[in-house]
Amino acid sequence: MAAALSRAKHRKPARTASAVPKRKKAPAAPKLDPSELSAFGTKLRAWYRRNARDLPWRRTRDPYHILVSELMLQQTQVSRVLDFWRRFLERFPTLHHLAEAKETHVLEAWSGLGYYARARNLHKLSRAVVREGARAWGDDTTELDPTGAEVHASRPLLPAEPEQLRRLPGIGAYTAGAVATFAFERRAALVDTNVARVLTRVFAPRLHPKRPRDQKAIWAIAEATLPRTGKATWTHNQALMELGALVCTARVKRCGTCPVKDICRSRNRPDVRAG
Ligand code: SF4
Repeated sequence: MAAALSRAKHRKPARTASAVPKRKKAPAAPKLDPSELSAFGTKLRAWYRRNARDLPWRRTRDPYHILVSELMLQQTQVSRVLDFWRRFLERFPTLHHLAEAKETHVLEAWSGLGYYARARNLHKLSRAVVREGARAWGDDTTELDPTGAEVHASRPLLPAEPEQLRRLPGIGAYTAGAVATFAFERRAALVDTNVARVLTRVFAPRLHPKRPRDQKAIWAIAEATLPRTGKATWTHNQALMELGALVCTARVKRCGTCPVKDICRSRNRPDVRAG
């Protein structure tokens, strides 16, 4: 009894309504002026055509090759990825080759890049797609021939729509947008750290590029800036990433030479955070 009383004495008092900390609401995307959005896209894409780096994954539309580049580029610098990407694709030129490989061989080819979960997921994805075809991304309408075998001949090995790509192992929102845009020229948004930094600096400095509750608003800005066609979206998304890598970087803002400086709300502002 005494023990029970002593426990009761030390029990924390129930929180009153006023003591419960209020969770901050996710901010809404700012209202953006259509003429400003259009000027942003036009200037950005014109700059890209003049200044883009010639990277080998920008010369292909092979979805598997693009997927490998996107996974390698996560957390790794372009200069390091160049050789790894070439060697990996020499060893596993198609999804079929990768699916047939042993995991130890895939990890061996990835060795030195780090973050091996990316390689394991890519291998898992290749096996799922080669084995299950469209069922791997939830499409149950795969035709069967009279013998019961699946008919895959006319289907691409990877799907083109971001929602379908997201159902595959290891594919997040950014990678789905990147493969849909860069391989299939779909009109899809993508946001990685570089893109989030550029968009928040240009249109919404009060948002933080890495704060989870701001991500919805940042994706909404990315959607709002997309051009009308998939072909132009290919250039637009490459250009956003290139601006974040070369001009508006985490460490330096080269506002003087920036193609969107006339529109940017953070131009020359020292108080805008890096990140
Ligand atoms: S003007 Fe400066 S802050 Fe704005 S996007 Fe360009 S480099 Fe970044």
